[in-house]
Amino acid sequence: MRAPLKPLDDALADLLAQALPLAGDDTVDSFDADGRVLREDAISPLQVPPQDNSAMDGYAVRSAECAPGDAVLPVSQRIPAGSPGQPLEPGTVARIFTGAPVPPGADAIVMQEDCEALEDGRVRINARPEAGQWIRRSGEDIRRGATVIAAGTRLSPAELGLAASIGLARLKVARRPRVALFSTGDELVMPGTIAPEQMPPGSIYNSNRFFLRALLQRMGCEVTDFGIVPDRREATVDALREAARSHDLILTSGGVSVGEEDHVKPAVQALGQLDLWQVAIKPGKPFAYGHVRRSGGDAEGFAHFIGLPGNPVSSFVTFLMLVRPFVLRLQGVQQVLPRPVEARAEFAWPRADKRREFLRVRYNGSGALELFRNQSSGVLTSAAWGDGVVDNPPGQSIAPGDTVRFIAFSELLS
Ligand code: AMP
Ligand code: MG
Repeated sequence: MRAPLKPLDDALADLLAQALPLAGDDTVDSFDADGRVLREDAISPLQVPPQDNSAMDGYAVRSAECAPGDAVLPVSQRIPAGSPGQPLEPGTVARIFTGAPVPPGADAIVMQEDCEALEDGRVRINARPEAGQWIRRSGEDIRRGATVIAAGTRLSPAELGLAASIGLARLKVARRPRVALFSTGDELVMPGTIAPEQMPPGSIYNSNRFFLRALLQRMGCEVTDFGIVPDRREATVDALREAARSHDLILTSGGVSVGEEDHVKPAVQALGQLDLWQVAIKPGKPFAYGHVRRSGGDAEGFAHFIGLPGNPVSSFVTFLMLVRPFVLRLQGVQQVLPRPVEARAEFAWPRADKRREFLRVRYNGSGALELFRNQSSGVLTSAAWGDGVVDNPPGQSIAPGDTVRFIAFSELLS
């Protein structure tokens, strides 16, 4: 009897329950921390900006002294960015530049476009400044003691700048998951080894290995490529045992379909344990999760094992929906689920599958979604052509103009 289909959300919950954050961390230069996952809260030891400062080139004034709108006042000091300035003498203004500290006593900045420098050195203020105008307040970006970036955040360029703004030069981040990548399938040929015109009948190029490796790297993993799994049981067991010793995850593609003859399943079972799931998604469905025990010495424990389907789009989509959250969670990321947005379909999908479908679509010029003409799980062109996928509930047909749930590749691949 066939196993019942497992809803994607259940599969994800089961998988994430296994994804305990990896032990160990790295301390890296902030310059090298893009894409890494912060291990401890970044707490600000100071106010940013550190003191009230000018948002404009102009004049620091006492606003009450400029109330008439045409006050003429002498310039008592000049304050460029980086110099502290003196208390503002009553009845005077201070020449000031963007980013320079506002001198004590001044309560507003008048931009230089609203001022006229007179020949005698005084300045006419052609405006009635409001108290507080053009002053950036101390701590308006960050208050001392505030958590600026929470542990578990995947760092992006803005966060690197934010960390620098509170003086952090080194950051404690999760170590990169070490992933061993295997392909299965006697039909597979590595590009570069046999020229297209010499390909034996029935053979195809190994495309999964290329996108899986790149996807893993984008998710912060260190990838070791074990190539194509050898065609013998003992060799497969040896390769898996070797991979488990120094990797956190062993990822394979192909060979997890129901009833398929291949060496990976029995080899994983011999070294640990393996569950085959039929996930209720399309493309996708066959998926394997298990453990490969580490043997001997100090290398106790196990490596996670994930087997993806072989069809390229199935492999691609199951990676994005299941493996991506899994490897992010290994790094301690809390928010691992992609955020869908509502979008308008400009296509018809009259015969929806009873499984949840991920349709490859792209935006047209008017901001609506178009469907790739061939949604077959073997047609990898759909994933390259698409801007993302429509996450379509089981059995739900789509008519032009309908609102659908869209998940952008820019969200999934970053
Ligand atoms: P399988 O899951 O092994 O039954 O494979 C399903 C389909 O995907 C077959 O047509 C395979 O030839 C194809 N396939 C499996 N692995 C790869 C791969 N690494 N690159 C491209 N196609 C693959
Ligand atoms: Mg196969």
